[in-house]
Amino acid sequence: MKAPAAAVVQELVLANHILHAQGVVDGFGHVSRRHPDNASHFLLSRSRAPALVEAADIGVYDLEGRPLAQVNGAPYLERFIHSEIYRARPDVMAIVHSHSASVIPFGVTGQRLRPIFHMAGFLGSGSAHFEIRDAVGDSDLLVSTPALGRALATSLGACSCALMRGHGSTVVGHSLQQAVFRAVYTEVNARMQATAMALGPVTYLSPNEAERAATANDGQIGRTWALWAHALKQTPGQGCSG
Ligand code: MN
Repeated sequence: MKAPAAAVVQELVLANHILHAQGVVDGFGHVSRRHPDNASHFLLSRSRAPALVEAADIGVYDLEGRPLAQVNGAPYLERFIHSEIYRARPDVMAIVHSHSASVIPFGVTGQRLRPIFHMAGFLGSGSAHFEIRDAVGDSDLLVSTPALGRALATSLGACSCALMRGHGSTVVGHSLQQAVFRAVYTEVNARMQATAMALGPVTYLSPNEAERAATANDGQIGRTWALWAHALKQTPGQGCSG
């Protein structure tokens, strides 16, 4: 196993801190990235609140969800979300799983998230829906086995975002920064979409508008990343230096 470069690890640490500061994750939720030198491996923290993650917490896992080297503590129970989506989606380079609050009402009502404004163009024609009960009956709702990870990956299909009924959501990207961008704007879109739906019929972006907006946004992702990283430095106790 080739050890990931320090900068690759550090960017994942920063992603953990940004997602917390932006209200996407709390004590729970996690973010991973595919190993840049080996598509069959991915990087993920040990089981720890994202805001507290440091470089020493980041481990390398295979697509069975097994840690390849000693992980400095227990792994996340739901690491199979990551392993099975990386297996099913060769285009995916990073994944964010969260329980962000505004998304939950959509999952439990079967309403799709749809792009209400241009920043959420990545939602395309809408979010995917994962019903864990279809895979396993009554459960603790956690994606804690490879089989459940596969069921989630199947529900995700080619989408960028899957709502998980009664649990949260999983968002994928073609880069770490894109996955973080999408996770933040999934939460923002959910908040705004719920407000708009209460007011009346909503005009969403058309699939063509969504695709064009997403392409435009992809050229601007570094701008929000720089802002969110900068904001961490301004907030005592949320520094990203570990
Ligand atoms: Mn979860």
